[in-house]
Amino acid sequence: MRYWAYFSAKLIVAGGVLYGLLLLLSGLLPEETRLNEYDAFRNGPLRLVNNLAFMGWFLLCAGVLYLIIRDQRYRCRVCLRRLRMPIETGSWGQMLQLGRPRIEYICPYGHGTLKAEELQISGLANPEWTPHSDDMWDELYAASKEPGDQP
Ligand SMILES: [Zn+2]
Repeated sequence: MRYWAYFSAKLIVAGGVLYGLLLLLSGLLPEETRLNEYDAFRNGPLRLVNNLAFMGWFLLCAGVLYLIIRDQRYRCRVCLRRLRMPIETGSWGQMLQLGRPRIEYICPYGHGTLKAEELQISGLANPEWTPHSDDMWDELYAASKEPGDQP
């Protein structure tokens, strides 16, 4: 819940800033006056400047949205810190033994692991988030246990 609230807050703040920039931009540019149908041809350079400015604003919006989504994708789902320590796992040469190549990121506080496919063959695949248990010793004990052992 906190993860999506942070994402929504970033979108709202960016939307507010970009809308303010749009208002500022539309106030700076001269208003186009059209008295008859031939004025569109006389005001060509003015229209060009207006359209280029708004196209630049649109590209800025798309870039900001991309950065927000990219930043959110590589954040911990629990504590919202940036995921760190990327490790390449798997191998194309030994795919049957080690699996497909992936990049794994972990939360510095041990909340979970994000596994992202290295190669996106069939479109953009969502990275897989695996939460860790609160007790880090469980995983260590589980690795050393024999299948028939009783606790
Ligand atoms: Zn975390």
